[in-house]
Amino acid sequence: MLNIKKKDIMFTGIQPTGLLTLGNYCGTMCNWKDIQKKYECFFCIADLHALTTFSRSGSNKNSIKNNFSTAILDIAALYLSCGVDPNRSTIFVQSHVYTHSQLYWILSNFVYFGELSRMTQFKQKLSLTVNTPINLSLFCYPVLMAADILLYHTNYVLVGSDQKQHLELVQKIAHRFNSIYGNIFIVPDILILPVGNKIMALQDPTKKMSKSDKNTNNTIFLLENIHSIYLKLQRSLTDSDCSSSCIRYDILNKPGVSNLLSIFSCMTNKKISILEDEFKNCQYSIFKKKLSDVVCDTISEIQAIYFKLRQDEDYLIDVLIHGEKNALKYSINKLDDVFQILNL
Ligand code: ATP
Ligand code: MG
Repeated sequence: MLNIKKKDIMFTGIQPTGLLTLGNYCGTMCNWKDIQKKYECFFCIADLHALTTFSRSGSNKNSIKNNFSTAILDIAALYLSCGVDPNRSTIFVQSHVYTHSQLYWILSNFVYFGELSRMTQFKQKLSLTVNTPINLSLFCYPVLMAADILLYHTNYVLVGSDQKQHLELVQKIAHRFNSIYGNIFIVPDILILPVGNKIMALQDPTKKMSKSDKNTNNTIFLLENIHSIYLKLQRSLTDSDCSSSCIRYDILNKPGVSNLLSIFSCMTNKKISILEDEFKNCQYSIFKKKLSDVVCDTISEIQAIYFKLRQDEDYLIDVLIHGEKNALKYSINKLDDVFQILNL
């Protein structure tokens, strides 16, 4: 009998909070097309996570079609535009698969208050919200992340480096559970891309590019007008130290140029050392022009596919309903194992 080895499983996701950025693209999405050749992939639209920073205005109420909001359909179309193949991989909405919130509660009994308090992302968000009450969900966010991942027998999780600490906690939770109940969970490995895993803000290259940044000049959005992207890159901060204007990767002394080199490398798949060589004798203005061209070309291609796909809502809904069924089929087995072992 033919013994076909099953592929390892890869899990990743993004919150549908606002528009996706060049940071999301370079940190994970640019690799989605290729990664599907190697692994069986689950692409989650993490809308339960998005609730932690949700604006409770109620203004989204009218834009729901068959349980899918405009924001969800936007992000689904963007996932597909970046190369997710629904015939090969599972793409689904987190809140439509109930196993996530159930395992979340169970796992919260296997993680300590002190561990969650040490999460830098929580501490950062805390420092930004002076005088506003903090949701418990923001604190417990990594536990839901553990549930998302551990439900799918996940071997690898592809994330940007800002998520490394959360992922290490997920590994710890899995180990802790397994040490009591036997090998119930696979302890996943963290996949962080060698370049682009932390794209920095264009006007302040000491902080991460983020979709929730108030200064929109810091962020390039994947669905932004191409001319505006071009201008933002032209105006991006290169060096505060003007003593040497050479194009060199040196995060400490040249964070701006290093960030632009990382973006260039992601867009072209050229190694940073090759790019340093290529632009050795170039002025910043020439380098930035070439960079703007490659970024705008890549994003234009994504946008062209996106706008076509986005018109066919019935297709997008079909893809998500199919994904939801598959995600439930997989995750329910793991949840059953956990219920049994805990006598629930
Ligand atoms: P928010 O500011 O609301 O947290 P975000 O841009 O960080 O938004 P997430 O949904 O939290 O988006 O992250 C989705 C994925 O994108 C994660 O794997 C994260 O590590 C990655 N990512 C986010 N920002 C960057 C960045 N600047 N560079 C590289 N990867 C990033
Ligand atoms: Mg984030």
